[in-house]
Amino acid sequence: MYDCIIIGGGPAGITAGIYCQRANLKTIVFEKETVGGQIASSPLVENFPGFKSISGVELANNFYEQAESLGLPIEIEEVLEIIPGKINKVVTDMGEYEAKTIILATGAKYRLLGLPNETNLIGKGISFCTSCDGAFYKGKDVAVIGGANSAVTNALYMSNLCNKVYLIYRGDKLKCEEVLKDKLEAKDNVEIIYNANVKKIIGEEELEKIILDNNRELTINGMFISIGMDAETKLVKEMLPLSEKSYVLSDDCTTTNNNIFVAGDCREKKVRQLTTAVSDGAVAATNVIKYIENNQ
Ligand SMILES: Cc1cc2nc3c(=O)[nH]c(=O)nc-3n(C[C@H](O)[C@H](O)[C@H](O)COP(=O)(O)OP(=O)(O)OC[C@H]3O[C@@H](n4cnc5c(N)ncnc54)[C@H](O)[C@@H]3O)c2cc1C
Repeated sequence: MYDCIIIGGGPAGITAGIYCQRANLKTIVFEKETVGGQIASSPLVENFPGFKSISGVELANNFYEQAESLGLPIEIEEVLEIIPGKINKVVTDMGEYEAKTIILATGAKYRLLGLPNETNLIGKGISFCTSCDGAFYKGKDVAVIGGANSAVTNALYMSNLCNKVYLIYRGDKLKCEEVLKDKLEAKDNVEIIYNANVKKIIGEEELEKIILDNNRELTINGMFISIGMDAETKLVKEMLPLSEKSYVLSDDCTTTNNNIFVAGDCREKKVRQLTTAVSDGAVAATNVIKYIENNQ
């Protein structure tokens, strides 16, 4: 039996694993796809302290090597079910395991437009997060796709850096707070294109151009897709309270279940970044360590 099973091998899960392993708890991490999680698909990270500039793959490899050097087991298995109890059962596509505690660190996924060429160009002009990648487009032309608060906030952020920002929205009225709309409309370098969808993405090695369904062609260096994120929380949707957008509600990474903890992007919070994910990993693991101490 494990002291702690960590579900998800992204920055939050690996950090939690490092903390639990160093506290001598019997720990295992299950990751269904890629160790490193979302960051493994980023070409360049420049906002994680300690690394002036590092590729996401290299950072993910560093996470893995550090975990391995501590003897933390990381298995490529998908967790299919959690059966909660004093001893929790975790069912994966390879077997069944028992654990006194669980840390859910299953992350979230940015929504895509669903166009050919889109996933190939992620990190090569297509991006999601302006505070992560906005600085790479200083002085350039970019498009932001979406019309709710996050899209408008991203367009505002980029308008302070870029030569030209197009905000492309499928509706005829932005769905954001009025104050954000007023700020955006006051920007000289922003053009809002209503009633339009991206029809085609052009570029081989990097993004060159997009074609809209009104047949307008925009030559741009970057495109920020801001149409929302989906929390990866289906494992716990019958078990833990979730926010309207399906993120796990928690108090400092503790949940309503006293031996299930939560960390990273799958948790309801304001900022979803590497720094906040690793912070959550440390907090959740510290909660686990305390729980194990108090329930020997
Ligand atoms: C392209 C891109 C670039 C980014 N750039 C930056 C940046 O420059 N700076 C920055 O601070 N942030 C950046 N981010 C955001 C950052 O990567 C995330 O905030 C961070 O990875 C969240 O960590 P996490 O561990 O909570 O979740 P994730 O990274 O989403 O990891 C969760 C992991 O859980 C696994 N998982 C899910 N369900 C299961 C299951 N049932 N069984 C087993 N495993 C499961 C997933 O496969 C995934 O690997 C970027 C994100 C993207 C997509």
